[in-house]
Amino acid sequence: DAVVVAIDGPSGTGKSSTSRAVATKLGLRFLDTGAQYRAMTWWMLTNEVDVDDAAAVALASDKPVLVSGTDPLNPTITVDGVDASGPIRTQEVTAAVSAVSAVPEVRARLVELQRTACAESAAAGGIVVEGRDIGTTVLPDATLKVYLTASAQARAARRSGELKGVPGAGQMSVEATREALVRRDAADSGRKTSPLAKADDAIEVDTTELSLEQVIEAIVTLVDE
Ligand code: C5P
Repeated sequence: DAVVVAIDGPSGTGKSSTSRAVATKLGLRFLDTGAQYRAMTWWMLTNEVDVDDAAAVALASDKPVLVSGTDPLNPTITVDGVDASGPIRTQEVTAAVSAVSAVPEVRARLVELQRTACAESAAAGGIVVEGRDIGTTVLPDATLKVYLTASAQARAARRSGELKGVPGAGQMSVEATREALVRRDAADSGRKTSPLAKADDAIEVDTTELSLEQVIEAIVTLVDE
């Protein structure tokens, strides 16, 4: 049977690096669902859709053609055939993504894309899918569900380290990063549609005191069990 690993949790917990490495080690495909919400948001901003107008966002949500490459060694995302991997990491997109991802039509469309990617990965042995609602909503029957956590301070330190060298991401202090991150978590978990939540059957891993290598090992061991 195909192996499906759902990895959820707030930003800065090392979700992306961890998920990619776990997929690589286990020979599985990889899907970053946050990149899809970011790509949708980038399209809205580029096409001058007011991201705070939920009705306008809903109406436009089926327009962008989003394609995610699921190779964990080279994850890609294109919007209308254009590589969006750089632009989706800018502060402008990060600031707008919570509003766009709160729109039910956006979620319905992306959840469908995510389930399709999962089904298509079966022939390759399975997939690691990372996001906020994978274990609760997108793939409730996943083989293994992991919920990553870490202290706000640890998450901010990692995030601000990650953003160094990303063009357009800007230079933010750890403190400013921490504030932005706490704000985004509140926006992501405060909404009615698909809140950031731990599935009842997810295994929680607190990464505050763990190295990336230790987190990867812990998850690979859980999959093998
Ligand atoms: O993981 P990342 O920080 O790139 O996600 C960006 C944003 O996309 C999150 O802050 C959240 O608003 C949204 N998101 C979501 N559901 C997911 C993945 C991401 O709503 N499964």
